[in-house]
Amino acid sequence: MIKQIAVIGAGQMGRGIAQVAAMNDYKVFMYDISAEGLEFGQSFIKKQLEKGVSKGKWEQSFVDSTLANLSATSEMNDLKDCDLFIEAATENKEIKFKIFKQLDEIAKPEAILASNTSSISITEIAAATSRPEKVAGMHFMNPVPVMKLVETITGLETSVETINAVEEAATKMGKTVVRADDVAGFAVNRILMPMINEAFYTLYEGVAEAKGIDDAMKLGCNQPMGPLELADFIGLDTCLAIMEVLHDGLGDTKYRPCPLLKKYVTAGRFGRKVGKGVYEY
Ligand code: NAD
Repeated sequence: MIKQIAVIGAGQMGRGIAQVAAMNDYKVFMYDISAEGLEFGQSFIKKQLEKGVSKGKWEQSFVDSTLANLSATSEMNDLKDCDLFIEAATENKEIKFKIFKQLDEIAKPEAILASNTSSISITEIAAATSRPEKVAGMHFMNPVPVMKLVETITGLETSVETINAVEEAATKMGKTVVRADDVAGFAVNRILMPMINEAFYTLYEGVAEAKGIDDAMKLGCNQPMGPLELADFIGLDTCLAIMEVLHDGLGDTKYRPCPLLKKYVTAGRFGRKVGKGVYEY
């Protein structure tokens, strides 16, 4: 029975996952290596919850009980009694392998270790632990409190009990689950990222300007956000990391990351989270 959840990484995804879990009666511990990131994550959640009161979505008492469910820590040992760990740290293999090794050491044997990775192989992440049957993918969408989907991913060794338990937790958080196999990009990013990458090529080759590309896809294809706008929202560093995983994992040149996307990332233009990406904020 999952009662306590640890969320590793308090960035845009981690803080959203922590918020939604705490809103749904889980005791949540949010952990980050960056003290600044942890503090920002906590104050961001508080602001989001208070906005809900001013919009009439819920009462102040709900904010108080949600915040009472939530703690933040920079001590990994404080997480040792958690039943489910949801890792939402930077999209980088080495970082994730290291985190899973550490979690495997501190977590109780029956605890489940899940990753919110957008594209990295769950089988590979699981192999960094001594409990691959207890590792699964739990891919939330951004922004977590708004988006309904959780894509769950079964690694080669993921047990039926583990995938059922993470799906039950996602459902309790009010989400709808779609299960995908452990192939680079899973289902959502296998489709979404090549489209975003193609939007960068369209810009790179001067086919249209950024706003034109976004307007074309919004007005012509009924997409709520244009692909470049969405890339800024996701984070260009994350988009590039996912394209590299698709390119390496599937081995087809059609997944080659656009040089313009690479250039933006090299320049530190990571998107909305740093105030500058394709657009300036
Ligand atoms: P982000 O850059 O906003 O946050 C990453 C956080 O991880 C930072 O706060 C950083 O300090 C922390 N971190 C780095 N190394 C760590 C470590 N060793 N231990 C603990 N924390 C550490 O990134 P994000 O957009 O929140 O993405 C996080 C994960 O979620 C990635 O795997 C990404 O692919 C996935 N994801 C992102 C989106 C999106 O739209 N951004 C959507 C779905 C899934």
